Amino acid sequence: MQNLVKIEINYICYTSWHEVPEKYQHLMEEAKKAKEGSYAPYSNFNVGAALLLNNGKIIHGSNQENASYPIGFCAERTALSAAASLASHEKISAIAITCSSIKNPVTKPAAPCGICRQTIFEAECKHHQNIEIILMGESGEIFHFKSIKDLLPLHFDADFL
Ligand SMILES: [Zn+2]
Repeated sequence: MQNLVKIEINYICYTSWHEVPEKYQHLMEEAKKAKEGSYAPYSNFNVGAALLLNNGKIIHGSNQENASYPIGFCAERTALSAAASLASHEKISAIAITCSSIKNPVTKPAAPCGICRQTIFEAECKHHQNIEIILMGESGEIFHFKSIKDLLPLHFDADFL
């Protein structure tokens, strides 16, 4: 017997910057600053990420491309790797991600790729704490997820190993 299973995800959609809670407005500004470090000569798609640690510190990441295209790093994983290296015991409370393109205005948020979703999930597992995710393009709506589980509902749990 087959059953059609539907999965529900939840997120907050802000229609303007002013609706975003103040601490996340600040984190989005940090993500924009992080984007300045982006190296994306191949895609011309610049991404910045800012992590908020429980101790209040902010860690930046940006996408770093390479002529061997698949081995580039996404902004989210760059920031998460920096946090794991610089503050491995500090829990992560939120990540803000923003992007822009030289080719066209980005008028909606870009969601993290599958590898980054799994990496954020692992960071949640490592610290036993949800990571809030705020996504924004250059303009338009802003999405706020309370956990990566809403972006990765069928996650691979390391406990299976
Ligand atoms: Zn990614």
